[in-house]
Amino acid sequence: MEPLRGGGLVNLSEKSLAKLNENYPDTTPAEFGLRWSASLKNVVTVLSGMSNLKQMKENIATFENFTPMNEQEIKVADEMAKIIQSQGEINCTACKYCTEVCPKGINIPAIFSLYNQYKVTNSPFHLKIYYETLSDSEKANNCIKCNLCNKNCPQNLPIPELLAQVQSEYEKSKVSS
Ligand code: SF4
Ligand code: SF4
Repeated sequence: MEPLRGGGLVNLSEKSLAKLNENYPDTTPAEFGLRWSASLKNVVTVLSGMSNLKQMKENIATFENFTPMNEQEIKVADEMAKIIQSQGEINCTACKYCTEVCPKGINIPAIFSLYNQYKVTNSPFHLKIYYETLSDSEKANNCIKCNLCNKNCPQNLPIPELLAQVQSEYEKSKVSS
């Protein structure tokens, strides 16, 4: 499930996209990500969400003449993964399973999404601006650390700790802007 991390691997940062383009200019991030997943040993089905006909056609084309990734492609994928990890993004796929159980109504996926944008742009100003578009009740400082959300997260994210991290960086962004 979620071979493209809820679409997050389609919208790559400039640096990781450049790595793909310099090696495989005719390959899209979606094709590359799907082929990586389908090339894993023991994987028989890759379940990818699609939101329009164009995406469906692209996915069909990827699997119609499927060939597993070769060693060089896997190496490039590893290098792209390292770039993504070095940016400090939170691996949230926006599935919203956590919000179903949060007693405080915190908008966890929205908070992680704007934090990831901040990490890609490296602009505290962006973090401040977008964080302030959330209503007060949706913000991370309402977390009571009950850990109910953690049990529902398929990515095993330490959600309360990450929320505290975002809140702390937001506080710093207010000082620096
Ligand atoms: S730990 Fe925080 S974010 Fe998670 S369910 Fe409890 S209040 Fe909500
Ligand atoms: S359950 Fe995990 S992956 Fe899903 S939206 Fe919440 S934090 Fe993100």
